[in-house]
Amino acid sequence: MTDPAVGVRPSAVARRLPGRAKRRVDVLREYEEFNSDRRRGIPSVLWPFFAPDPDGYYRWQVQLDCACIKEMLTPDDYTPPSERQWRGLGDGELLPPGQVYCRHDDSADAPYRDIIEWGERREVSFPADPVEPPEWADADRWAMIRHHEAHTSAFWKVTLACGHVEEVVAPNLDWKPDDGPRLAAATRVKQMIEEFEQAWASDPMLQPEAEGEHTRRMLAAGWPSPMPERSCHTCPHARAIVAYQRVGWLIPRNEAPKPENPPPARVVLERRLRRAEAEAERLRAQLAGHEERQDA
Ligand SMILES: [Zn+2]
Ligand SMILES: [Zn+2]
Repeated sequence: MTDPAVGVRPSAVARRLPGRAKRRVDVLREYEEFNSDRRRGIPSVLWPFFAPDPDGYYRWQVQLDCACIKEMLTPDDYTPPSERQWRGLGDGELLPPGQVYCRHDDSADAPYRDIIEWGERREVSFPADPVEPPEWADADRWAMIRHHEAHTSAFWKVTLACGHVEEVVAPNLDWKPDDGPRLAAATRVKQMIEEFEQAWASDPMLQPEAEGEHTRRMLAAGWPSPMPERSCHTCPHARAIVAYQRVGWLIPRNEAPKPENPPPARVVLERRLRRAEAEAERLRAQLAGHEERQDA
């Protein structure tokens, strides 16, 4: 499934944003608290790389396409937050450049996106499911889906067409992306189509619209496993930075002009000297005029 909006990166503009920046001392205190927690798990020689002092951070206010205004810190003052990559929820996966995770309760449902890349694999072991059905399943359904024995599944990280990362379960432990998806037997697919058509006819609310469309696509494709598309739970909350405003260094810097280092080129110095000599000549002429008038 492709979405024409996917991959289009709105460019952010520098402009004045409504509202005031937070008090600098509060932001500094928040950073210090966050950083001292973080440093507990990092050897001190690595602090400059993974948990730096606050004096290298620059403050920005940003506005997102959900209209929220947030304050962000960057490790320099020349690359705005809209040209950087931020992480998803918590310490999650990197989002595409310029996106920020901003959760709203009324966000849209997770849309289905094509899988465009297979990444890391991990195995997870699960104990056998309990015999008693959980609250969300009746006894018959539980008997069908219950894992009677302990089992291990392979999970693959996948990048979706929107640039977000999700995880999918492989059909078995030996499966590799090069194997491609396995299709269900044609007779089984035919049977499933009939069952779904009946279920949808008797209960039009059986699945939300997007879910129903996904089911239809997968049935039409022969019920592939793993499926070539996955619902993206980041898309509804990933917002683009549309504007930003500079706030200043987290620790104020001396505003004195920086010394010229390295010294200016020879041609620059020669030009400055000629200008200074011309100015001295002009002043001498003015002074001479004064003296002549006094003499008169
Ligand atoms: Zn927001
Ligand atoms: Zn997404």
